[in-house]
Amino acid sequence: NMEKIAFIGLGNMGGPMAANLARAGYDVTAFDLSETALAQAVANGCARGESAQQSVQGVDVVISMLPSGDAVKGLYLGARGLLQALSENALVIDCSTISAVDARQLIAAASERGIRAVDAPVSGGTAAAAAGTLSFMCGGDAGAVDAARPFLQAMGASIFHAGPAGSGQVAKICNNMLLAIHMIGTAEALQLGVDNGLDPTVLSDIMKASSGGNWSLEKYNPYPGVMDGVPASSGYAGGFAVALMLKDLGLAMDTAAGSASSTPLGALAKNLYQLHGGSDENRRLDFSSIQNLFRRPAGE
Ligand code: NAD
Repeated sequence: NMEKIAFIGLGNMGGPMAANLARAGYDVTAFDLSETALAQAVANGCARGESAQQSVQGVDVVISMLPSGDAVKGLYLGARGLLQALSENALVIDCSTISAVDARQLIAAASERGIRAVDAPVSGGTAAAAAGTLSFMCGGDAGAVDAARPFLQAMGASIFHAGPAGSGQVAKICNNMLLAIHMIGTAEALQLGVDNGLDPTVLSDIMKASSGGNWSLEKYNPYPGVMDGVPASSGYAGGFAVALMLKDLGLAMDTAAGSASSTPLGALAKNLYQLHGGSDENRRLDFSSIQNLFRRPAGE
């Protein structure tokens, strides 16, 4: 693996993703605004970038994993943006979850400079990032997506080409909107059973073998004590934060507005997560903590 990679954004997801590229033998220069995140990447085998601009000097590929569309546009676009610093043969892979509109703007700006770019948001969370088993949903030209594949394979287990520029982002928010809806439905159904005297584990076993079965119930049960190794069984710590689910539901609603699509359950899911995420404390909890919205104080 002789290609040189710059990896920008070494947070909960980007940190372990960059480490997996270094482990696969790539020459990875890493950069993050956070010194702690950067030091961790260096400990994991990446070279220390002094700035984003310096990190991309002479590299073949730039991979970014940033919190928002504004952060991504700030990094690549404008007079000091990375697109100005990259050579024509370079490949840009943005793995951040951002709006399809922002992703298309980035890819179009790259294309004007003769640079290939793809949107490649991920599904799987921090455990999959560490294990190198993420799912990538790519948008862009087939040629650019194929060029990105070897790098994505070093970080993930499955790679989908969803369609043209921005399509990866559309697939990602469709998935996460559905995830929010079935998580809330699962929490609501479990509480109805518990309020009527059922054991949540017995009810879960019944629904798993029946037509109510779904990923939230089977793999990420929101009711405390039903399943080991999920956030519900450790006070809803870790996992996928309510704040991030709210961001994704916001992107889903913006996308629906743009296409005049009717997404009533997505809108309700966003409202329920907004209600639940009314405090900073709740916004930091895993999204399965929506169960608490339905639970009653003991004795009522
Ligand atoms: P994070 O906040 O842990 O990491 C983001 C990192 O980017 C931080 O270290 C921050 O310092 C850095 N950063 C911000 N602006 C920068 C800039 N201009 N230059 C350099 N570094 C900069 O977030 P995360 O959990 O790693 O998530 C990253 C993206 O992945 C988000 O878009 C999120 O929606 C998406 N995502 C997260 C998960 C998850 O489970 N955490 C799952 C799927 C997708």
